[in-house]
Amino acid sequence: MKNKEFAAWLEQRKEPGYRLGQFKRAFFQDLVLDWDGLTTYPKALREAAAEEFTWDELKVTDERTDPSDGTYKVLFACSDGSAVEAVLMRHETGRNTVCVSSQVGCPMGCAFCATGKLGLKRNLTADEIVEQVLHMARILKKDDAYVTNVVYMGMGEPFNNYDAVMESIRTLNDPDGFGLGARHMTVSTCGIVPGILKFAGESLQVNLAISLHAPTDEMRDRIMPVNKAYPLDKLMYAVGEYAVKTNRKVLFEYLLLKGVNDSLDCAEGLADLMEQNKRLYQVNLIKYHSTGGYQATEMDDRQEFMDLLKRRGIKVTFRVSFGEEIDAACGQLAARNGRV
Ligand code: SF4
Repeated sequence: MKNKEFAAWLEQRKEPGYRLGQFKRAFFQDLVLDWDGLTTYPKALREAAAEEFTWDELKVTDERTDPSDGTYKVLFACSDGSAVEAVLMRHETGRNTVCVSSQVGCPMGCAFCATGKLGLKRNLTADEIVEQVLHMARILKKDDAYVTNVVYMGMGEPFNNYDAVMESIRTLNDPDGFGLGARHMTVSTCGIVPGILKFAGESLQVNLAISLHAPTDEMRDRIMPVNKAYPLDKLMYAVGEYAVKTNRKVLFEYLLLKGVNDSLDCAEGLADLMEQNKRLYQVNLIKYHSTGGYQATEMDDRQEFMDLLKRRGIKVTFRVSFGEEIDAACGQLAARNGRV
Protein backbone atom coordinates (compact mmCIF):
# COMPACT_ATOMS: atom_id res chain seq x y z
CA MET A 1 0.00 0.00 0.00
CA LYS A 2 1.36 3.39 -0.93
CA ASN A 3 0.75 5.05 2.42
CA LYS A 4 1.83 8.64 1.73
CA GLU A 5 0.01 8.74 -1.59
CA PHE A 6 -3.11 7.37 0.02
CA ALA A 7 -3.04 10.05 2.74
CA ALA A 8 -2.64 12.70 0.01
CA TRP A 9 -5.53 11.19 -1.94
CA LEU A 10 -7.84 11.40 1.08
CA GLU A 11 -6.86 15.02 1.56
CA GLN A 12 -7.35 15.86 -2.07
CA ARG A 13 -10.88 14.44 -1.88
CA LYS A 14 -11.45 16.56 1.25
CA GLU A 15 -12.35 13.48 3.27
CA PRO A 16 -12.63 14.15 7.01
CA GLY A 17 -9.37 13.77 8.95
CA TYR A 18 -10.55 10.68 10.84
CA ARG A 19 -10.62 8.64 7.61
CA LEU A 20 -6.83 8.33 7.70
CA GLY A 21 -7.01 7.09 11.29
CA GLN A 22 -9.63 4.52 10.32
CA PHE A 23 -7.42 3.30 7.51
CA LYS A 24 -4.36 3.05 9.78
CA ARG A 25 -6.29 1.06 12.37
CA ALA A 26 -7.52 -1.40 9.77
CA PHE A 27 -4.25 -1.70 7.85
CA PHE A 28 -1.64 -1.63 10.62
CA GLN A 29 -3.49 -2.78 13.75
CA ASP A 30 -6.40 -5.01 12.71
CA LEU A 31 -4.26 -6.29 9.81
CA VAL A 32 -7.26 -6.72 7.52
CA LEU A 33 -6.47 -8.38 4.22
CA ASP A 34 -8.17 -6.17 1.63
CA TRP A 35 -10.30 -3.10 1.01
CA ASP A 36 -13.45 -5.01 1.93
CA GLY A 37 -12.09 -5.34 5.44
CA LEU A 38 -12.07 -1.57 5.87
CA THR A 39 -15.63 -1.66 7.12
CA THR A 40 -15.47 1.76 8.80
CA TYR A 41 -15.45 3.30 5.31
CA PRO A 42 -18.67 3.73 3.34
CA LYS A 43 -18.82 1.31 0.41
CA ALA A 44 -18.45 4.07 -2.21
CA LEU A 45 -15.23 5.36 -0.60
CA ARG A 46 -13.84 1.84 -0.36
CA GLU A 47 -14.55 1.23 -4.03
CA ALA A 48 -13.04 4.55 -5.10
CA ALA A 49 -9.90 3.80 -3.04
CA ALA A 50 -9.63 0.28 -4.44
CA GLU A 51 -9.64 1.68 -7.97
CA GLU A 52 -6.64 3.88 -7.18
CA PHE A 53 -4.62 1.78 -4.71
CA THR A 54 -3.53 -1.82 -4.37
CA TRP A 55 -3.90 -3.07 -0.77
CA ASP A 56 -0.75 -5.23 -0.96
CA GLU A 57 2.25 -4.09 -3.00
CA LEU A 58 3.99 -7.42 -2.38
CA LYS A 59 2.68 -10.82 -3.45
CA VAL A 60 3.87 -14.02 -1.80
CA THR A 61 5.38 -16.32 -4.43
CA ASP A 62 6.98 -18.93 -2.18
CA GLU A 63 7.20 -19.65 1.53
CA ARG A 64 8.93 -22.20 3.71
CA THR A 65 9.15 -23.12 7.35
CA ASP A 66 12.24 -24.71 8.88
CA PRO A 67 10.97 -27.85 10.63
CA SER A 68 13.75 -27.71 13.22
CA ASP A 69 13.04 -24.29 14.68
CA GLY A 70 9.91 -22.89 13.02
CA THR A 71 11.76 -20.14 11.17
CA TYR A 72 9.57 -18.95 8.33
CA LYS A 73 10.98 -17.51 5.14
CA VAL A 74 8.95 -15.86 2.44
CA LEU A 75 9.72 -14.77 -1.08
CA PHE A 76 7.75 -11.80 -2.33
CA ALA A 77 7.30 -10.47 -5.84
CA CYS A 78 7.19 -6.68 -5.99
CA SER A 79 4.83 -4.99 -8.46
CA ASP A 80 7.69 -4.77 -11.02
CA GLY A 81 8.47 -8.47 -10.62
CA SER A 82 11.56 -7.99 -8.43
CA ALA A 83 12.04 -10.79 -5.89
CA VAL A 84 12.75 -10.02 -2.26
CA GLU A 85 12.92 -12.12 0.90
CA ALA A 86 12.00 -11.70 4.55
CA VAL A 87 12.35 -14.03 7.52
CA LEU A 88 10.37 -14.51 10.72
CA MET A 89 12.26 -15.99 13.69
CA ARG A 90 10.13 -17.21 16.57
CA HIS A 91 12.03 -17.42 19.84
CA GLU A 92 11.02 -19.62 22.74
CA THR A 93 10.93 -16.54 24.94
CA GLY A 94 7.96 -15.24 22.94
CA ARG A 95 10.05 -12.75 20.98
CA ASN A 96 9.13 -12.71 17.29
CA THR A 97 11.76 -11.04 15.15
CA VAL A 98 11.24 -10.08 11.52
CA CYS A 99 14.34 -9.71 9.38
CA VAL A 100 13.53 -7.38 6.48
CA SER A 101 15.28 -6.61 3.22
CA SER A 102 15.97 -3.01 2.27
CA GLN A 103 17.14 -3.53 -1.32
CA VAL A 104 16.63 -6.00 -4.14
CA GLY A 105 20.09 -7.59 -4.16
CA CYS A 106 23.07 -5.67 -2.79
CA PRO A 107 26.03 -3.85 -4.37
CA MET A 108 28.45 -4.29 -1.47
CA GLY A 109 29.94 -7.62 -2.56
CA CYS A 110 30.85 -9.10 0.84
CA ALA A 111 32.72 -12.30 0.01
CA PHE A 112 30.75 -14.56 2.39
CA CYS A 113 27.26 -13.35 1.46
CA ALA A 114 24.81 -14.90 -1.00
CA THR A 115 22.96 -11.60 -1.50
CA GLY A 116 26.20 -9.82 -2.38
CA LYS A 117 26.64 -12.14 -5.35
CA LEU A 118 23.41 -10.82 -6.89
CA GLY A 119 24.52 -7.21 -7.29
CA LEU A 120 22.02 -4.41 -6.79
CA LYS A 121 18.76 -4.48 -8.74
CA ARG A 122 17.06 -1.56 -7.01
CA ASN A 123 16.16 0.05 -3.70
CA LEU A 124 12.95 -0.99 -2.00
CA THR A 125 10.40 1.69 -1.15
CA ALA A 126 9.45 2.35 2.47
CA ASP A 127 6.04 0.78 1.78
CA GLU A 128 7.67 -2.39 0.44
CA ILE A 129 9.80 -2.66 3.56
CA VAL A 130 6.82 -2.09 5.86
CA GLU A 131 4.73 -4.69 4.03
CA GLN A 132 7.30 -7.40 4.76
CA VAL A 133 6.63 -6.76 8.45
CA LEU A 134 2.86 -6.62 8.01
CA HIS A 135 2.86 -9.97 6.24
CA MET A 136 4.65 -11.54 9.22
CA ALA A 137 2.27 -9.79 11.63
CA ARG A 138 -0.68 -11.37 9.79
CA ILE A 139 0.97 -14.81 10.04
CA LEU A 140 1.55 -14.33 13.78
CA LYS A 141 -1.96 -13.03 14.37
CA LYS A 142 -3.32 -16.49 13.55
CA ASP A 143 -1.54 -17.69 16.74
CA ASP A 144 -2.49 -14.63 18.79
CA ALA A 145 1.13 -13.55 18.58
CA TYR A 146 2.68 -10.34 17.31
CA VAL A 147 5.89 -8.87 15.94
CA THR A 148 8.14 -7.81 18.81
CA ASN A 149 11.32 -6.88 16.91
CA VAL A 150 12.36 -5.81 13.43
CA VAL A 151 15.94 -6.08 12.20
CA TYR A 152 17.18 -4.55 8.95
CA MET A 153 19.55 -7.44 8.23
CA GLY A 154 18.04 -9.03 5.12
CA MET A 155 18.98 -8.35 1.52
CA GLY A 156 20.71 -5.03 0.94
CA GLU A 157 22.67 -2.37 2.76
CA PRO A 158 20.13 -0.21 4.66
CA PHE A 159 22.26 2.94 4.65
CA ASN A 160 22.47 2.81 0.85
CA ASN A 161 18.69 3.29 0.93
CA TYR A 162 18.71 5.65 3.89
CA ASP A 163 15.58 7.74 3.34
CA ALA A 164 13.28 4.80 2.60
CA VAL A 165 14.64 2.85 5.57
CA MET A 166 14.06 5.80 7.92
CA GLU A 167 10.59 6.35 6.50
CA SER A 168 9.75 2.68 7.06
CA ILE A 169 11.02 2.94 10.65
CA ARG A 170 8.84 5.99 11.29
CA THR A 171 5.83 4.22 9.77
CA LEU A 172 6.35 1.10 11.91
CA ASN A 173 6.91 3.30 14.96
CA ASP A 174 3.78 5.45 14.45
CA PRO A 175 1.65 4.93 17.59
CA ASP A 176 -1.54 5.47 15.53
CA GLY A 177 -0.40 2.75 13.14
CA PHE A 178 1.77 -0.32 13.75
CA GLY A 179 3.14 1.11 17.00
CA LEU A 180 6.41 -0.83 17.28
CA GLY A 181 8.81 0.82 19.74
CA ALA A 182 11.94 2.26 18.15
CA ARG A 183 14.08 0.38 20.67
CA HIS A 184 12.72 -2.83 19.18
CA MET A 185 14.22 -2.06 15.78
CA THR A 186 17.83 -2.55 14.70
CA VAL A 187 19.55 -1.29 11.57
CA SER A 188 22.62 -3.26 10.53
CA THR A 189 25.24 -1.73 8.26
CA CYS A 190 28.38 -3.14 6.69
CA GLY A 191 30.07 0.15 7.58
CA ILE A 192 28.75 3.07 5.50
CA VAL A 193 30.35 5.88 7.50
CA PRO A 194 28.20 8.83 6.30
CA GLY A 195 25.09 6.73 7.07
CA ILE A 196 26.29 6.01 10.61
CA LEU A 197 27.02 9.69 11.26
CA LYS A 198 23.60 10.72 9.91
CA PHE A 199 21.90 7.98 11.91
CA ALA A 200 23.57 9.32 15.07
CA GLY A 201 21.62 12.54 14.56
CA GLU A 202 18.18 10.89 14.28
CA SER A 203 15.86 11.49 17.19
CA LEU A 204 14.51 7.91 17.12
CA GLN A 205 16.07 5.44 19.57
CA VAL A 206 16.71 2.72 16.96
CA ASN A 207 19.57 0.26 17.58
CA LEU A 208 22.69 0.12 15.45
CA ALA A 209 24.56 -3.03 14.48
CA ILE A 210 27.85 -3.10 12.57
CA SER A 211 28.83 -6.03 10.37
CA LEU A 212 32.50 -5.99 11.33
CA HIS A 213 33.76 -9.52 10.57
CA ALA A 214 37.50 -8.66 10.67
CA PRO A 215 39.79 -6.84 13.12
CA THR A 216 42.35 -5.46 10.62
CA ASP A 217 42.08 -3.46 7.39
CA GLU A 218 44.15 -6.03 5.52
CA MET A 219 41.72 -8.81 6.43
CA ARG A 220 38.59 -6.71 6.10
CA ASP A 221 39.64 -5.43 2.65
CA ARG A 222 39.68 -9.04 1.49
CA ILE A 223 36.22 -10.04 2.66
CA MET A 224 34.35 -6.72 2.70
CA PRO A 225 35.11 -4.34 -0.19
CA VAL A 226 33.35 -1.51 1.69
CA ASN A 227 36.47 -1.35 3.88
CA LYS A 228 38.45 0.21 1.04
CA ALA A 229 36.13 3.22 1.06
CA TYR A 230 35.63 3.28 4.85
CA PRO A 231 38.59 1.63 6.60
CA LEU A 232 38.49 0.63 10.25
CA ASP A 233 39.75 3.90 11.74
CA LYS A 234 37.02 5.86 9.94
CA LEU A 235 34.39 3.23 10.82
CA MET A 236 35.33 3.11 14.50
CA TYR A 237 35.41 6.92 14.64
CA ALA A 238 31.86 7.11 13.23
CA VAL A 239 30.60 4.42 15.61
CA GLY A 240 32.28 6.28 18.48
CA GLU A 241 30.42 9.45 17.50
CA TYR A 242 27.16 7.51 17.41
CA ALA A 243 27.82 6.02 20.86
CA VAL A 244 28.70 9.38 22.41
CA LYS A 245 25.73 11.18 20.86
CA THR A 246 23.13 8.53 21.62
CA ASN A 247 24.59 6.72 24.63
CA ARG A 248 23.17 3.57 23.05
CA LYS A 249 24.74 0.13 22.83
CA VAL A 250 26.31 -0.90 19.52
CA LEU A 251 26.33 -4.49 18.41
CA PHE A 252 29.32 -5.66 16.36
CA GLU A 253 28.48 -8.70 14.25
CA TYR A 254 31.40 -11.05 13.69
CA LEU A 255 30.98 -14.02 11.37
CA LEU A 256 33.49 -16.73 12.25
CA LEU A 257 35.19 -18.07 9.11
CA LYS A 258 37.51 -21.01 9.60
CA GLY A 259 41.16 -20.12 8.99
CA VAL A 260 40.26 -16.59 7.88
CA ASN A 261 39.30 -14.44 10.88
CA ASP A 262 39.02 -16.90 13.77
CA SER A 263 42.55 -17.02 15.21
CA LEU A 264 43.29 -15.91 18.75
CA ASP A 265 45.29 -13.00 17.25
CA CYS A 266 42.07 -11.94 15.57
CA ALA A 267 40.26 -12.20 18.89
CA GLU A 268 42.93 -9.95 20.47
CA GLY A 269 42.56 -7.47 17.59
CA LEU A 270 38.81 -7.47 17.99
CA ALA A 271 39.13 -6.95 21.74
CA ASP A 272 41.44 -3.96 21.07
CA LEU A 273 38.75 -2.37 18.89
CA MET A 274 36.09 -2.99 21.53
CA GLU A 275 38.32 -1.44 24.22
CA GLN A 276 37.44 1.92 22.68
CA ASN A 277 34.10 1.78 24.47
CA LYS A 278 33.70 -1.35 26.58
CA ARG A 279 30.55 -0.05 28.22
CA LEU A 280 28.53 0.32 25.03
CA TYR A 281 30.16 -2.07 22.56
CA GLN A 282 29.14 -5.69 22.38
CA VAL A 283 30.31 -8.47 20.06
CA ASN A 284 27.92 -10.97 18.57
CA LEU A 285 29.70 -13.98 17.12
CA ILE A 286 27.82 -15.65 14.27
CA LYS A 287 28.10 -19.14 12.87
CA TYR A 288 28.85 -19.18 9.14
CA HIS A 289 26.27 -20.91 6.98
CA SER A 290 27.81 -22.19 3.83
CA THR A 291 27.08 -20.17 0.71
CA GLY A 292 30.28 -21.49 -0.87
CA GLY A 293 33.91 -20.48 -0.49
CA TYR A 294 34.33 -20.65 3.28
CA GLN A 295 33.90 -23.05 6.16
CA ALA A 296 32.46 -22.52 9.62
CA THR A 297 34.81 -22.31 12.61
CA GLU A 298 34.94 -25.47 14.74
CA MET A 299 33.03 -25.33 18.00
CA ASP A 300 36.16 -25.60 20.20
CA ASP A 301 37.90 -22.78 18.34
CA ARG A 302 34.81 -20.65 18.61
CA GLN A 303 34.75 -21.23 22.36
CA GLU A 304 38.41 -20.22 22.72
CA PHE A 305 37.78 -17.09 20.66
CA MET A 306 34.84 -16.22 22.88
CA ASP A 307 36.72 -16.99 26.10
CA LEU A 308 39.55 -14.67 25.11
CA LEU A 309 37.12 -11.81 24.52
CA LYS A 310 35.51 -12.48 27.88
CA ARG A 311 38.90 -12.52 29.63
CA ARG A 312 39.52 -9.10 28.11
CA GLY A 313 36.23 -7.91 29.63
CA ILE A 314 34.39 -7.62 26.31
CA LYS A 315 30.66 -8.31 26.25
CA VAL A 316 30.17 -11.16 23.82
CA THR A 317 27.30 -13.41 22.75
CA PHE A 318 27.01 -16.19 20.25
CA ARG A 319 24.02 -15.84 17.98
CA VAL A 320 21.65 -18.77 17.99
CA SER A 321 21.13 -19.55 14.35
CA PHE A 322 17.72 -19.75 12.83
CA GLY A 323 16.52 -21.21 9.60
CA GLU A 324 19.70 -22.84 8.38
CA GLU A 325 17.80 -25.62 6.66
CA ILE A 326 15.87 -23.19 4.50
CA ASP A 327 18.75 -20.79 3.75
CA ALA A 328 17.24 -18.12 5.94
CA ALA A 329 20.26 -17.51 8.12
CA CYS A 330 22.62 -14.54 7.98
CA GLY A 331 24.14 -14.08 4.53
CA GLN A 332 21.96 -16.71 2.91
CA LEU A 333 19.16 -14.62 1.49
CA ALA A 334 19.46 -14.70 -2.26
CA ALA A 335 15.97 -15.06 -3.74
CA ARG A 336 17.33 -17.86 -5.86
CA ASN A 337 15.61 -18.67 -9.11
CA GLY A 338 12.43 -17.09 -7.90
CA ARG A 339 12.20 -19.55 -4.99
CA VAL A 340 12.98 -19.27 -1.33
S1 SF4 B 1 26.50 -8.90 3.99
FE1 SF4 B 1 24.97 -7.27 3.80
S2 SF4 B 1 26.14 -5.54 2.89
FE2 SF4 B 1 27.39 -7.39 2.55
S3 SF4 B 1 26.79 -8.09 0.48
FE3 SF4 B 1 25.50 -9.18 2.01
S4 SF4 B 1 23.61 -7.96 2.13
FE4 SF4 B 1 25.20 -6.67 1.19
